[in-house]
Amino acid sequence: MAEISTTGVAAGRLSAREYVDNFSDLHPPLAKNKARTEADRCYFCHDAPCMDACPTSIDIPLFIRQIAADTPDGAAETIFTSNILGGMCARVCPTETLCEEVCVHVAQGNLPVKIGELQRYATDHAMTSGAVTFARAADTDKHVAIVGAGPAGLACAHRLSQAGHKVTIFEANEKPGGLNEYGLAAYKTTNDFAQSEVAFVLSIGGIDIEYGKALGADLPLDDLAKNHDAVFLSLGLAATNGLGIAGDDLDGVKDAVEYIAELRQADDLATLPVGQNVVVIGGGMTAIDIAVQIKRLGARNVTMVYRRGPEQMGASDFEQELALINGVTISHWAMPTAIIGDNGQVAAIDFERTQLEGGKLKGTGEAFTLAANQVFSAIGQVLDASSLADSGLALEGRRITVNEDRKTSLGNVWAGGDCVVGGQNLTVSSVDDGNVAAAAINAFLTGKGE
Ligand SMILES: Cc1cc2nc3c(=O)[nH]c(=O)nc-3n(C[C@H](O)[C@H](O)[C@H](O)COP(=O)(O)OP(=O)(O)OC[C@H]3O[C@@H](n4cnc5c(N)ncnc54)[C@H](O)[C@@H]3O)c2cc1C
Ligand code: SF4
Repeated sequence: MAEISTTGVAAGRLSAREYVDNFSDLHPPLAKNKARTEADRCYFCHDAPCMDACPTSIDIPLFIRQIAADTPDGAAETIFTSNILGGMCARVCPTETLCEEVCVHVAQGNLPVKIGELQRYATDHAMTSGAVTFARAADTDKHVAIVGAGPAGLACAHRLSQAGHKVTIFEANEKPGGLNEYGLAAYKTTNDFAQSEVAFVLSIGGIDIEYGKALGADLPLDDLAKNHDAVFLSLGLAATNGLGIAGDDLDGVKDAVEYIAELRQADDLATLPVGQNVVVIGGGMTAIDIAVQIKRLGARNVTMVYRRGPEQMGASDFEQELALINGVTISHWAMPTAIIGDNGQVAAIDFERTQLEGGKLKGTGEAFTLAANQVFSAIGQVLDASSLADSGLALEGRRITVNEDRKTSLGNVWAGGDCVVGGQNLTVSSVDDGNVAAAAINAFLTGKGE
């Protein structure tokens, strides 16, 4: 066990076994017999509502029938044809608010078919067997630049390469995958799955990735658009909102996304600093992810504080439940007012209770204080618009304006994923944006579109 420092923060709070157990698969993979039994529960509905609820419109009844018939690689081909990142989506989609929410079993008072877990069974099988491959069409001599190798960029690149276009992805980071690699909770994507999946996507050929290349002063959008036949922007939301209250610069106050990225890249979880008392500000998926992971790293008390009620939280019921069963306390209707330090290190955080008055959130004047050795801010991410300065691209509320084809205001530039207006902040909807943009770009390059 680690020494707890005077600041209440320490690394290595757990045994090696505890780290392994706490960060193993959230949902262990289904064994073959369990998968086939689960597949047999599907009614194979004719107008399957689950297909409409899936942003990438996977033919769910078909792939489940293929699993029932013991052809998991065929099932995986069905999935990958609609969603090349179907392996990651199977792990991280909030299925309880997407495909599984509308399963006909639910209306009958039963548990839904475990669509996500069946999808994982099929895609894992195919990625191990290597049985599903995609071929490129004849080379078209067209070259598309993509900015950002996250889910939207990778999905778009794969579709364009399939159509015979050459693709270069410019990626600011050292590794591909975007938030699949740096953001998702570690227990949702174990064993370096994000990188195995990128290798699978790139195995089609025709896609180059240039790392350490950031759109901005050294790589202006103008130049990319001039030197390529089309451009797809899939930058994600690289900047975060700060708390903007006194004390938010104290040691121990940190952005949740930054800490999660360090956790995801850590060779040894025992090196990460973990407070005894941790407070998380926010009510979305990122807030839940940091709260659960810091608890699983050995924090004693973790409290999530959200300024509105449970119904307004961005995190789904399942995610909220996950936090509670991991021992996280969720406190609603309160906003932080100041962070208190002791020798430059966070020691406590002050809150004011909130309520709705005429539809507006207001402080009630009632105050309380929580002891805190670490404070994580998880109050939203925004587009880093500095990379688009002087580009002339139309923005709206710090996201890129696009039409239904994900076309921007500039001639040969499309955009998708989290960085666009209407972005759903989900892996699967980012994949859908990549698919939609690729279809529109292909039509443009082959003279069948704008
Ligand atoms: C902590 C956290 C947990 C999440 N958990 C879930 C979950 O469980 N389920 C779910 O469905 N969704 C989850 N999400 C949301 C999901 O990860 C995103 O919606 C999705 O990754 C967005 O894909 P994207 O391709 O638009 O952007 P990103 O994944 O953000 O990828 C953008 C890429 O662009 C690169 N880039 C940025 N700026 C530049 C530049 N100027 N030049 C070049 N490259 C650049 C970045 O390095 C990155 O690789 C989570 C998000 C966070 C932050
Ligand atoms: S991609 Fe996600 S939403 Fe679509 S069927 Fe699979 S698990 Fe459901």
